Amino acid sequence: MKLGIVGLPNVGKSTLFNAITKAGAECANYPFCTIEPNVGIVPVPDERLQKLAEMYNPDKVTPTTIEFVDIAGLVRGASKGEGLGNKFLSHIREVDAIVHVVRCFEDGNIVHVDGSIGPKRDIETINLELIFADLEVIERRIDRTKKMLKSGDKKYLLEIELYEKIKTSLENGMSVRSMSFTPEELQMMDDVFLLTSKPVLYAANVAEDSLSTIDTNPFVNELKEFAQKDGAEVIVISAKVEEEIAQLEDDEKAEFLNELGIAESGLDKLIKASYKLLGLISYLTAGQPEVRAWTIIKGTKAPQAAGKIHSDFERGFIRAEIVAYKDLIECGSYAAAREKGLVRSEGKEYIMNDGDVTLFRFNV
Ligand code: GDP
Repeated sequence: MKLGIVGLPNVGKSTLFNAITKAGAECANYPFCTIEPNVGIVPVPDERLQKLAEMYNPDKVTPTTIEFVDIAGLVRGASKGEGLGNKFLSHIREVDAIVHVVRCFEDGNIVHVDGSIGPKRDIETINLELIFADLEVIERRIDRTKKMLKSGDKKYLLEIELYEKIKTSLENGMSVRSMSFTPEELQMMDDVFLLTSKPVLYAANVAEDSLSTIDTNPFVNELKEFAQKDGAEVIVISAKVEEEIAQLEDDEKAEFLNELGIAESGLDKLIKASYKLLGLISYLTAGQPEVRAWTIIKGTKAPQAAGKIHSDFERGFIRAEIVAYKDLIECGSYAAAREKGLVRSEGKEYIMNDGDVTLFRFNV
């Protein structure tokens, strides 16, 4: 699961990406991490791990991580081959969701490709490129399906009808994400990969000295208004500040945030929102030697969740002993939670919740 960072040139993508890699997990700890300059892996902030560590005194606390890809080269005309051209499109195809960085800071020294700050215009420029790319895909698809219709199978008629509906929306400048579909239609779209159907969140990059006045920032307000119509979330950050914060140790970081009058860094907020955007949740394991968060897709059942730890856990799954994080903390210890009947025994069909503190029982 990974997110692509997109945006026009000079909006602060690289600055934000630098913050991500500096805050990043040591690559060597993650066997799946290929060393590529445009990929950053960051720990997902989770206050629950610290609380559990206080309870269990483990040797090690391991947060879960997500992956960001810096996708450069998205400029006006990119879908027609401008700039890096179609190359960026193939990079966007590979990500599961998009973080769209929008410039909301004024700085005369840093050129804006269109000469002025304009969040709505900037988003529309990028969206238009994605829409053009999707139009090409859907038109090819319509042609192909029309050929298959010659076989006489009526299902192709329904497909063509759906694709035509999508095409019309795209031509009207609408993202596929903002359209609504029936479950049958969604099924038909299962193998149609469209860029504008990917979930998106907007990162408003504001000037370092305007973090305390974001409510009255006209650029941020313009962006928020747009995002609301798009059904997307906005996270306000200052990429410059985040780059500085990312270099601090934990205690210095807390002090710095305190001075800025904010409880949580923008990057932490962004990472958490990105995690949610991907439809991910964490279950937790706690004990000696490790307290750890594990990533699963919302809706995952217990055996598959166990499989995240080891395939043997899934194969030999017997049951999961689960206590909700909140219950465990309220009781003060696992033993106390058990005494109150709050440690549940769950079987193969159990759907995991975010924050389930879990012990799997399995046959080897
Ligand atoms: P990219 O082209 O989108 O990757 O943009 P960069 O991250 O390279 O940023 C372009 C320029 O804007 C750089 O000189 C950054 O230092 C600067 N910049 C980025 N974020 C901010 C910000 O929040 N405030 C100010 N004043 N400058 C910023």
